[in-house]
Amino acid sequence: MSDCASRIVTIREQMNIARENAPLAAPSSTLVAVSKNHDAASILPALKAGQRVFGENRVQEAADKWPELRLSYPDMSLHLIGPLQSNKTREALALFDVMETLDRPKLADAIAKERENGHAGRCKEFFIQVNTGDEPQKAGISPKETVDFVGYCINELSLPVTGLMCIPPAEEEPALHFGLLRQLAIETTLPNLSMGMSGDFEIAIRFGATHIRVGTAIFGSRA
Ligand SMILES: *Cc1c(COP(=O)(O)O)cnc(C)c1O
Repeated sequence: MSDCASRIVTIREQMNIARENAPLAAPSSTLVAVSKNHDAASILPALKAGQRVFGENRVQEAADKWPELRLSYPDMSLHLIGPLQSNKTREALALFDVMETLDRPKLADAIAKERENGHAGRCKEFFIQVNTGDEPQKAGISPKETVDFVGYCINELSLPVTGLMCIPPAEEEPALHFGLLRQLAIETTLPNLSMGMSGDFEIAIRFGATHIRVGTAIFGSRA
């Protein structure tokens, strides 16, 4: 087994252990393998090991790597997990199956416009990125505006929003932020919660994550 394949096995075991005795945990969670900064040759062992859901944070990098890999693995699914410039909306909708980083009204409007004009692409689901720490430098909707923004996207723009996503502040206890995101998902009745990375995915699972985004623990450190 490749290193990458055995790391994926280990993470899946850790995910199952985290779910034990965790009443808030989801019945199952999707492992999103974050392959940013890793080339196709590094990603291939993960695909061969059966991993099918991947995350990338940049449109151009994803466009360079994934269309060819997808030909061999048509059942794979690609998530956008990084900020999107509005002028790359059409390209992103064509490349990604799920956009986890819908983070502002201007982007929501741009997506809705593309969809109205027949450019829905392959993107079937959107998660709203919530800036749970209200950090000025970080993308995302403020927690206090999240309910209204979700309503705007779903009711005014008819976007298929199915979840929330967050990246907690580096220096804070992630559990506080996972708990807040969970609460907002209950208020908005959205089923999906994308939270937890290499360092804290087990905590996220215990708080109900349906998607965890793991890069380093699968592919090693990034260049
Ligand atoms: C890079 C990245 C990850 C993966 O982080 P690791 O610590 O390498 O697991 C998860 N989510 C987002 C939004 C990222 O940009």
